Amino acid sequence: MTPTQLKSLAALLYPSIGTTPEYFEEKYPPRNLPEGAKVTRFAPSPTGFVHFGGMFPSTVSERLAHQSGGVFFLRIEDTDSKREVDGAEENIIKSYNSLGIMFDEGVTLNGETGAYGHYRQSDRKQIYQTYAKKLIEEGKAYPCFCAPEQLDAVREEQEKNKELPGYYGKYAVCRELTYEQIAGNINAGKSFVLRLRSTGDPDNKIKFTDLVKGNLELTENNIDHILLKSDGMPSYHFAHAVDDHLMRTTHVVRGEEWLPSLPYHIQIFAALGFRLPKYLHISQLMRMENGAKKKLSKRDNCAALSYYNTAGYPAATVREYVMTLLNSNFEDWRRANPAADINDFPFSIKKMSGSGCLFDFDKLNDVSKNVISRMSAHDVYVLLTEWAKENDPDYYALLTRDSEYAESILSIGRGGAKPRKDLTTWADAKQYMNLFYDELFGIQDMIPEKYDKNDVMNALQKFILTYNYEDVQSAWFEKIKDISESLGYASDMKEYKQNPEAFKGNVGDISMFIRVAVTGKLNSPDMYEVMRILGYNTVINRIKKFIKIL
Ligand code: GLU
Repeated sequence: MTPTQLKSLAALLYPSIGTTPEYFEEKYPPRNLPEGAKVTRFAPSPTGFVHFGGMFPSTVSERLAHQSGGVFFLRIEDTDSKREVDGAEENIIKSYNSLGIMFDEGVTLNGETGAYGHYRQSDRKQIYQTYAKKLIEEGKAYPCFCAPEQLDAVREEQEKNKELPGYYGKYAVCRELTYEQIAGNINAGKSFVLRLRSTGDPDNKIKFTDLVKGNLELTENNIDHILLKSDGMPSYHFAHAVDDHLMRTTHVVRGEEWLPSLPYHIQIFAALGFRLPKYLHISQLMRMENGAKKKLSKRDNCAALSYYNTAGYPAATVREYVMTLLNSNFEDWRRANPAADINDFPFSIKKMSGSGCLFDFDKLNDVSKNVISRMSAHDVYVLLTEWAKENDPDYYALLTRDSEYAESILSIGRGGAKPRKDLTTWADAKQYMNLFYDELFGIQDMIPEKYDKNDVMNALQKFILTYNYEDVQSAWFEKIKDISESLGYASDMKEYKQNPEAFKGNVGDISMFIRVAVTGKLNSPDMYEVMRILGYNTVINRIKKFIKIL
């Protein structure tokens, strides 16, 4: 076609577009940022399911931007109207914000913010079509009128001939339509898609450096993929190029499932005369099932971002866990800086692994125990009550009935160099705290049968007689030692270990009798602290009741 025909063709296909690329280039100028500042984005599709996997590109993007004094924005990729779900955007924003992923620009809960919008792809149709017109005018894109049945037939033939599937070469029948033929189709009201006129050759290789995957050799794309669909909306590929160019993205962080389309993306950027951003393709999150690696599927409960909150994992746990998977040196850093803000960690692209990460509940739980153990009693109380409010209203009522009391329970073993690690999730807290509430208290563990009931009885009775709430810990323990001696149990562990036969048991056994009577459990936090919180009457009453059931 002649340049004049191409110009007419562009006008014929997208008659309502009066804007030019120059207009948008001027409207969205290069950003005025300090040297080295990175511009990144998170670009989810509002499908209604917020996948845990999204935490990886979003965390990397957020860190890269905010560590460099750049900009991180949220773009909603909603060009596939079939997949849209009500409330999905709100869900995305709230979920990520609650995990500390904060956007500087983009779609917000009540509109959008930033000078590079719109940030919803469905609002950018005019922009895509403006750039599409430019490609048509330059002979780089053409309309395709093939019906789905025709394309199916092509696919079948290609499968039969064991050929590369797709619209290319002799199969790309619309590639050579004349202006008159196209005009005839348009006048006849035929619908069309816009395709890239690929100049790639599958025998050629492109060298490419991905910042995570390293040096790659990719096969050139020879398929005339779709740029704009029949409804005039762009494909992901075309929209990505136009958007990341105009929003001045410097680093595209996305899942490795996009890597096979990269040669096509490189072509689109080149055809449009855009500079290619840097790319980081992140490995898929896998999990082990019956000894084999498997992609996290929607059916795995841990695949939903909402799962973690409901299960009672603090937001800080999820962030730390994600960072543990993203940067191999994070755990060492955390050990050396237990109190530091996670955002002080020097996140580095170089420390990212190019091969897949494995989701591991044991690791998650381990991270969570540590995260919770480092929190102050007050923070634990606040986060725990927030969780209980949503997930266990009765427990919430109990926790808020006397907040000071609840907080004093949560402060046991906290704050020192070696804090206790009793809680993995907020869901564990009720069981951990139940001994402090008469309505939840019950004898859960029994004293093992091997102990003489009379010894148990005597020890408990003696404890009742000598217990003084005012005793300091050492005095309190001396009394338990005295009781041990009086019943033929060693009060000194060293002595006991040297000659166990000389004793019926040791002070640990006597403490255990008291522990079971007072807490109902064989394991509990520090007994002295527990008794201080329970108060004299509760301690004595529980022991008396226990004696009765012996
Ligand atoms: N909407 C795409 C997705 O959800 C975004 C990929 C990208 O970040 O470019 O996979």
